[in-house]
Amino acid sequence: MKTKIITALMAQLGVERVLTEAALAERYCHIWRMDQSLKAIAVVLPRTTEELAAIMKICHEYEQAVVVHGGLTNLVGSTETQADELVIAMEKMNQVEELDEKSRTITVQAGVILENIQNLAKAKDLVFPLNFGAKGSAQIGGVISTNAGGLRVFRYGMTRNLVMGLEVVLADGTIMSSMKKIIKDNAAYDLKQLFIGSEGSLGIISKAVLKLVEAPRSRTSAFVGLNDYEKVIQLLKFMDAGLAGTLSGFELIWHTTYSAMTSPPALAKPPLPQEFKYYVLLEALGSDQERDQETLQNLLEQAFEKGLILDAAFAQSESDLTWFWKIREDLHVVVSQCNNDQHFDVSLPIPTIGNYVDETLVKLRAIPEVEECYTFGHVADGNIHFVLSKANASRALTLQINDIIYAPLQAMGGSVSAEHGIGLDKKAYLPLSKTATEIALMKTLKRALDPKLILNRGKVLDL
Ligand SMILES: Cc1cc2nc3c(=O)[nH]c(=O)nc-3n(C[C@H](O)[C@H](O)[C@H](O)COP(=O)(O)OP(=O)(O)OC[C@H]3O[C@@H](n4cnc5c(N)ncnc54)[C@H](O)[C@@H]3O)c2cc1C
Repeated sequence: MKTKIITALMAQLGVERVLTEAALAERYCHIWRMDQSLKAIAVVLPRTTEELAAIMKICHEYEQAVVVHGGLTNLVGSTETQADELVIAMEKMNQVEELDEKSRTITVQAGVILENIQNLAKAKDLVFPLNFGAKGSAQIGGVISTNAGGLRVFRYGMTRNLVMGLEVVLADGTIMSSMKKIIKDNAAYDLKQLFIGSEGSLGIISKAVLKLVEAPRSRTSAFVGLNDYEKVIQLLKFMDAGLAGTLSGFELIWHTTYSAMTSPPALAKPPLPQEFKYYVLLEALGSDQERDQETLQNLLEQAFEKGLILDAAFAQSESDLTWFWKIREDLHVVVSQCNNDQHFDVSLPIPTIGNYVDETLVKLRAIPEVEECYTFGHVADGNIHFVLSKANASRALTLQINDIIYAPLQAMGGSVSAEHGIGLDKKAYLPLSKTATEIALMKTLKRALDPKLILNRGKVLDL
């Protein structure tokens, strides 16, 4: 069977774009695990939607399980493979088809890297506002299939809000095209939404039309220090009202994390002393640099006088902006200080975050094998990340930590995944975020679109 499938794939793509045996040693399943070679029957590298459809027709006929590989930056084990699976790697589907300045859209194949889209938009004085640390590796197909969030969700929304059109190859090789540039389309079901955030379990994204926005004329930013979570909430309201719609970032960093991000081996110096419980990194994108700088500075002075903040460092130049945001974006600095790192991206109502984190940290620090807990997040979106350093990678310890972090979320109306998705790592915890009825409906959809269960088999849902 394996030989038949590989022969059929080679007949479609040519021998050089079907990687087998020795060539697999060069491949991996995650950017952080490049030292471990890939388990798979082969890796195929389509260049066009038609080639992708032909691959899926073969896989459907032979009931061959496939795992789609984008930029391999996901944080939930969703690109892990078994030795009997076929990997479809999207890296050669990397063409930008059109940048339409009048419609303010960009049309791309799924394998285009997020940062390339940002740069192309920038060259036309436009912006693709999605932004996060893995932008240099993440592909837009992976970003759409995980409905990624990141640093500017508060202003521009998740990936879902930025996808205008989509082309998808279904499990049986059918091509579903909905590559429109229109903002409003209520002609029955909006089917593209099914594929956004479903982690490659319902179809393979081959192309997308993305929304671009006008480039802001100004960017202002500040770090502030606080000791009281109630004041973080009050500051968010105060700044949002005062900045009249221009607030684009409101990132919260807990003390331990800020200290690690601004002490050696990290290269960045601390903009504020390492003495506060909380640090907020604020950003506003506006239209007039001088005026907006004055507005932010005035608001910070008022916040200080009202007792909302204890200290502030204002970015005075382009290099200050780079310095401040590199501290927050360069997560590698934190991850590289961890042993057996374990990651979380939970979501919960904003007012509950302070107590939830305090109580969770007490429970985590009571476990002797937990070496350090780093906490930070997109607090204006109700999204908190934990990165843990552990003395060992045992499954028992991982599950013990999962239980501490996930167990309170259901009663609080939270979610086990704010933005990273479910993949393999969080599958067992899906019932904490979705009702039994919702999960049953998801399974009905999965079976309808992928009756042979060949797309990302065993990921997301227990089927
Ligand atoms: C340093 C770092 C910072 C991060 N920060 C954030 C953040 O702030 N916010 C956030 O939301 N996420 C963040 N992430 C994780 C984020 O989900 C991924 O970076 C990104 O969205 C996945 O894109 P990818 O191309 O790497 O996909 P991959 O990791 O390759 O794949 C992810 C999933 O999508 C599927 N897939 C890939 N391509 C396609 C396709 N064309 N069609 C269908 N399915 C496909 C895969 O099978 C898999 O299930 C971060 C990751 C890192 C490493």
